[in-house]
Amino acid sequence: MALRTCPRCSNDRVYDVRRGKCRCARCKYEWIPNRLPLHLKEQEWRHLLRPFLEEKSGKVISDETGIHRQRILRALTVLRMVMGRDVPQVLEGKVKVDARYSTGKASRRFPASTDPAGKHRTGTAHPPIYGIWYSQGKVWASLMREPEANHFLSLLQEGAASDDRAAVDADSDYSGIAYNGRFYRMNNTTITEDRNAYATDDGLYNFGNYLTKRLAPRRGLRRDRLPLYLAECVWRFNHRDAPVPRQEEKLLDLLHRY
Ligand SMILES: [Zn+2]
Repeated sequence: MALRTCPRCSNDRVYDVRRGKCRCARCKYEWIPNRLPLHLKEQEWRHLLRPFLEEKSGKVISDETGIHRQRILRALTVLRMVMGRDVPQVLEGKVKVDARYSTGKASRRFPASTDPAGKHRTGTAHPPIYGIWYSQGKVWASLMREPEANHFLSLLQEGAASDDRAAVDADSDYSGIAYNGRFYRMNNTTITEDRNAYATDDGLYNFGNYLTKRLAPRRGLRRDRLPLYLAECVWRFNHRDAPVPRQEEKLLDLLHRY
C-alpha cells in the first residue's frame, strides 16, 4: 500500500526523491513510503495486532509473537498514539488532537505530561477528569487541564446541595464529563450526574461509564501515560461494532501514516 499523501500535512502533491524517499511539495517533509514504525515488518505488526485487540498483556503478546517485551511495549505506545489521532469524521473540526499524540515522530517516545496537575506526587491532586464529546455514536475525550478542572470541581461543590446540578459557562462544549467513577451529562446550562443504569442504548452514557471503570485511579495507571490509555479507550469504543479484521486493517493503515 503506497502512501502518496504527506504523513505530516496530508498534502497529496508528493515527489519521488533520492534513495527511495518521497518529499512533500508543501512542507518539504521526507519519508520512506511503506515503512512501518519501530522497524517492525508488516507481518510482525499483523501478528501483534490480534492479541492487542483481544486485550492481552504485553508479556503474553511477547510470548505469542516471539518479539522482545521491550519492543512490544514500544509498539503498544505507538499504537495508542496513532489511535489518538484517529478523530471520527462526525467530530472533525469540533475536537482537538492532543499534541502529545503527534510529537513522537522525532524522539519515538511519548513526551511526559506538561500539566501541573499531572506532576502532583503528594497524593492530594484530584482524580483525573475526562471531558467527552459525543455525536452519532462516536466519541472523543481529553484529560481536562487546569484551570478548567478546578472550575468544574467548584461547580460540583456548589451544586452538591441542589441535586448535583449547577450552572456551567456557555463556552464549554463537552457532551459529558467522567470523574471519580461518575458520569455527568452536560446540557446548555446544566451539569447533572447521570445514574441511569437502564439506558443500555445510550452511547454517551455507556462510554462515560466504560471510561471511569477502565481508567479508574485505583488501577494504578501512571498519570503521565493516561492520555495514551484514554486514546485507546476512545478508539476501541468508536470501533466497537467493527469486526476484528476490520480493526486490524484500520490500525495498519494508521501505522503507515505514523
Ligand atoms: Zn507535507
